[in-house]
Amino acid sequence: MLFPCNKKIYHVSCGRYPFLKEVLYPGDEYTTSFTRAEKKVLRKRKYEKPSDWVPKHRQIMKGDFAGQNLSFEITPHLRGIMDAAVLAFVREIILCAAPQTAKTTGIDSLIAWSRIFDRGPACSFYPDANTAERAMEERIAPMVKSSPLLKKQTLKGRDTFTTHRIKMVGGNWETGWAGSTSQTADRPLKIVDMQEVNKKAYGSSGDETSAIGLLRKRVRSYRGHKIFMSSTPTTETGNITILLASECEAVFVQWVRCPHCHDEIYMHFSEERFFWPKEEDENGAEYDCDRKLIKSKRLGRYVCQSCGALWDDNDRNKAIRRETWRLRILDEDGEVDPEQKGEEMFRYLMRERPATIGFIMPSWMSYMVSLSEVVHDYLRSDDPALDPAEQLKAKKDFENGHRAGPWKIEKRARKSAELMRLKDKRPVGIVPSEGVAALVAGIDTQDYEFWYWIHAVGYGRNPKRWLIRCGKVNDFEDIRQVVLLNPHLDINKINYPVQKALQDYQGHRASKVYDFCASTGSIIMPARGEQTMATPYDTPVVEFYPGAEKRRFPGALRRVRGHSTFYKDKAAGILDTNRDDPGGLALYSTMPDSYIDQLCSEVRNEDGFWEQIRSHQNHLWDCFYNALIAEDILGVKYWPEPDENEEEDNDLVVTSVTATMG
Ligand SMILES: [Zn+2]
Repeated sequence: MLFPCNKKIYHVSCGRYPFLKEVLYPGDEYTTSFTRAEKKVLRKRKYEKPSDWVPKHRQIMKGDFAGQNLSFEITPHLRGIMDAAVLAFVREIILCAAPQTAKTTGIDSLIAWSRIFDRGPACSFYPDANTAERAMEERIAPMVKSSPLLKKQTLKGRDTFTTHRIKMVGGNWETGWAGSTSQTADRPLKIVDMQEVNKKAYGSSGDETSAIGLLRKRVRSYRGHKIFMSSTPTTETGNITILLASECEAVFVQWVRCPHCHDEIYMHFSEERFFWPKEEDENGAEYDCDRKLIKSKRLGRYVCQSCGALWDDNDRNKAIRRETWRLRILDEDGEVDPEQKGEEMFRYLMRERPATIGFIMPSWMSYMVSLSEVVHDYLRSDDPALDPAEQLKAKKDFENGHRAGPWKIEKRARKSAELMRLKDKRPVGIVPSEGVAALVAGIDTQDYEFWYWIHAVGYGRNPKRWLIRCGKVNDFEDIRQVVLLNPHLDINKINYPVQKALQDYQGHRASKVYDFCASTGSIIMPARGEQTMATPYDTPVVEFYPGAEKRRFPGALRRVRGHSTFYKDKAAGILDTNRDDPGGLALYSTMPDSYIDQLCSEVRNEDGFWEQIRSHQNHLWDCFYNALIAEDILGVKYWPEPDENEEEDNDLVVTSVTATMG
């Protein structure tokens, strides 16, 4: 009986294997067949792009969509990123993304895809050991187990799945943490995935010996290697921001299509683009609707820049499903230009073949983030009810967590043009004739010069202030002349002497400052700012000269330790107040712009401390806050305001002083 042939017959020739000549006789025909195991090894799977393969074989393990296959209906942006990342010439992929934009899901999916189509050892790195273990336990291992195709790729045995490794055909899939890099440096990897590279554990991207530097070298022995670096941005010096700026050959942003007008637009945040309901008070002035209501009732909308339609979350979801990744084009301010459409990503990639590419994913591109949540967090960052530290944190969170941009310290700085509104009509050096309680001053000591600031302060807990004079002199005696000896007159020629001044002695000519202050009879006191203190200020007795040698100070003098953060906050609050409101400051009419600029030289950083902006002089800012400490040392705010009757007596006293001086 003849059986139908159930095996394919292959002709055998010597080909590349000369030893076959010994076995085979020329002219004879030989056939062979393959065993199942041989066939399994030799079978070449039909190539599928990640965007085709992933939705069929990759399950979501956590969150709302757990148990379902990954769908590009929900995460359309991952499609472009995945297909671009697996192109042969692309080596490094940098993802700068807001939270909840599925960046980890995307990278996990790609590594899963590579288990079939681009095998080799892969390792996902996390900032710490706990996260690494949890990622393996909760996401990666269940994902491999849940997919029959992936499970087939595991090597059978008792230790196939451990807390940090899955043994797989062609190379294991492991998880590690930034601190573990040095111990495992001898083993090369084909795919390196670094999660949250902005975390401290990774070190700095510029440092060759940091975790990032070492991991980027680990792939050298594989030609077709891939390196993923992803993070939510933090500040301008964060790794992800530096990598995007200096390592990427091309950065891509997502353009979407309006479901109403079908125009392609770039979604971005501005007060014009996002819409939320406003309410009117009895005077007809508009104010923002309660942010909590906006969030709970989903009242936030996006305004299409092309047709003006208001998108709700549903429209947004439709829009992002018709997305295109395009080359990022920056405007003069370094922001993505929403008017200029960059080249389509794959066209660009195929032509330029860049090795390092980057992607930026803001929160509003994600199905998981409601537009109302964006609006809520934006309004929160501007909420005057929050204390300044919390408000600052909310601002930073919005920048990082929604815009997916770095927190720029310079951008938040006060603009000197804003302070022009504080100028009044007074010429320099003239004290107002009414309401002045005292004159105080601050002095900043530099190596070759001194900066000074003299202002008048009014009565009460929240007094008005007037800048009388500020500037720069060269010598200690000049300071004595300008601050103490020169009369500070009002229009009635009444003199107001400076009652207390604080001179900074940090670093520059400290001992001389002590001697000089002692010679003024402690009207000028040596002062030093400290970022954190339990009290606003404190005045310890000076026993020794500054310096290591502990030279005893001969006279009786107190120095001032001032809580610089506290007083700089106060100074900033004063500059924010209107000139004629209680607590406001008036600048004299001829104050030069460069002086005003010095008042805008520092800004609170993310730790809540004041930080100098590069290239801005901050001398007068320091003088100003020292003068505020001088007010408190005098206790001006507790001084009773003289009533009408007493005023005449005061006048008499003051006039007699001027008389003696004249
Ligand atoms: Zn439209």
